[in-house]
Amino acid sequence: MRRLRNVKIVATLGPASETYDMIRALHETGADVFRLNMSHGTHDEIREKHRIIRQVEKDLQSPIAILADLQGPKLRVGAFANGSEDLEVGAAFRLDLDPAEGDINRVCLPHPEIFQALEPGANLLVNDGKIRLKVENCGEDHANCVVVIGGAISNRKGVNVPDVVLPLAALSEKDREDLEFACGLGVDWLALSFVQRPADVEEARTLAQGRASILSKIEKPQAVESFDDILAVSDGIMVARGDLGVELPVAAVPPIQKQLVRKCRFAAKPVIVATQMLESMIESPMPTRAEVSDVSGAIYEGADAIMLSAESAAGQFPLEAVSTMNDVAIEVENDPTYRLVIDASRKAPRSSVADAIVAAAREVAETTEVAAICCFSQSGTTALLIARERPRVPIVAMTSLRGTARRLALSWGTNCVITSEVSRFKMAVVAASRAACGLGYAQKEDQIVVTAGLPFNMPGSTNILRVAPCDERLIFNMETE
Ligand code: PGA
Ligand code: MN
Repeated sequence: MRRLRNVKIVATLGPASETYDMIRALHETGADVFRLNMSHGTHDEIREKHRIIRQVEKDLQSPIAILADLQGPKLRVGAFANGSEDLEVGAAFRLDLDPAEGDINRVCLPHPEIFQALEPGANLLVNDGKIRLKVENCGEDHANCVVVIGGAISNRKGVNVPDVVLPLAALSEKDREDLEFACGLGVDWLALSFVQRPADVEEARTLAQGRASILSKIEKPQAVESFDDILAVSDGIMVARGDLGVELPVAAVPPIQKQLVRKCRFAAKPVIVATQMLESMIESPMPTRAEVSDVSGAIYEGADAIMLSAESAAGQFPLEAVSTMNDVAIEVENDPTYRLVIDASRKAPRSSVADAIVAAAREVAETTEVAAICCFSQSGTTALLIARERPRVPIVAMTSLRGTARRLALSWGTNCVITSEVSRFKMAVVAASRAACGLGYAQKEDQIVVTAGLPFNMPGSTNILRVAPCDERLIFNMETE
C-alpha cells in the first residue's frame, strides 16, 4: 500500500477487528502492522487472525508485519469469597500463599518468588495502580501491608511491584507455549512484556531461533534503568506507557518516552509509542484535542510507529482511529517544523562504509532533484540505516526475503518490494527503477539513488551508490550497450 506518511501505524486486533473485511479495511486505511495480543484469545482464534492477515497481504500484494505480544510475568491476586472487597486507607491487609478465598483482611498472592524479593517499605500496586499497599513486614510466605490508597479489590486483579527486581523468569510457561505457537505460525515480531534485564531478551531470542525478531516492551523502572543494555540485545522497542505509568509516576512517562525514542533512532532500531493514544475513540468517533496532540508529539519526536490497543481491538470505531492517526501523521510530516526537528536530531554514529553510503544517499537525494532512495537490503540492515537518516524523499527497500520485507513494515518510511535475487548491479538499477515507478514514488523522467552491496546478498555490505534515470527505456539501452 502506498502511504502518504513515513511513521507507521500498529493496530491491535481483537473482537472488534477479526473479520477479513475489517482487517483488510484497516490495512487499506493505514494499519501497517497488526498486533496479536497473546493475553487474550485461544490459539485457534489467533491462528485464524494470522491466516486472514496473510490472505489480505496476498490479495493486496503488500507486505504486512505481524507482532505477537507475549503476556509476560503478569502477577495477579487470587479470588475473594465475596468477589470483591473495599479496602480502606490505613487498614491492614495481608498477602500470602494460602489458596483459600480472600476477605477484607487478606488474599492469596500465588507467587512465592515475590515474597522472597519483597522488603519492608516496598509498594504493591493493584488494579492498574488504583490501590496502593505498602509492605510493613514480610516473610517467606506472606507480606503484611498497610493500605495507602484504598478502593475496590476483586478477583484476579493485576499486581505491579515497581520497587524490586523480581526474581521471575521473563517467560512463564504460558509465554513459552505462546512463543513456540507464534513462531510456528510465522509471525515477524515477538513483543516481550515486563522485560527487566538483557538476559530476558536473550532467553527469548534463544527460543525463537531466528524465526522472529524480538521487541522489548519497556514498562518497568528496571528496564528504564538498564535501557541501553536492553536496547543493545533487542531488535526493536515499545514504549509501553500503560504499565510504565503504573510502575512510575505518570509524569515521568513523557520524558522517558522522548529519551527512548531518541536512543532507538541512534541505534537504528524501530520504536513504537503505545497505549492510550486515542483512548476516547473506543467509544467516540472523534478524538480529544489532547489525544491528537499526543499522537503528533510522538511523530515529532521521531517514533517509527504509533500504536492502537483497545481502540482497534475492542472499540466501536477501529477504522476511524486508524484514519485519525493517518491524518495526524500527514499533517505533522508536512509541517516544516517537523523537518527542522528531525534534521536537528540526526546525530548518529557513522563508523562503517554502509553508514557513510546511506548518509551520502540522503545528501544526494536532498540536494539534487532525486525522487527516491532505493536500497537493496537482504537482511534489512541497510534499510534500517537509511530509515535512521529520516530522508525527505521516499525509501524503497528491495529484498528477495519476504521475512525482511514484512519485518521492515514497522520501521519509519520503509516501502518494501520483494524482488528476485539480482546478480549484477545493472539489473539492480533496473529493478529499483521499476519498483520506484511502480509504487508511484518516481516518474519516467526522474532520477533515483540506488544503493547496493557487492558481492550481492551479503548482509551489511552496502558499498555502491549510483544516481540513475528512472526511464526504463534508457536503462534498457544502457544494459545492451
Ligand atoms: P499491554 O502493554 O497493553 O500488553 O499491557 C502495553 C502497555 O503496558 O502500555
Ligand atoms: Mn503492559
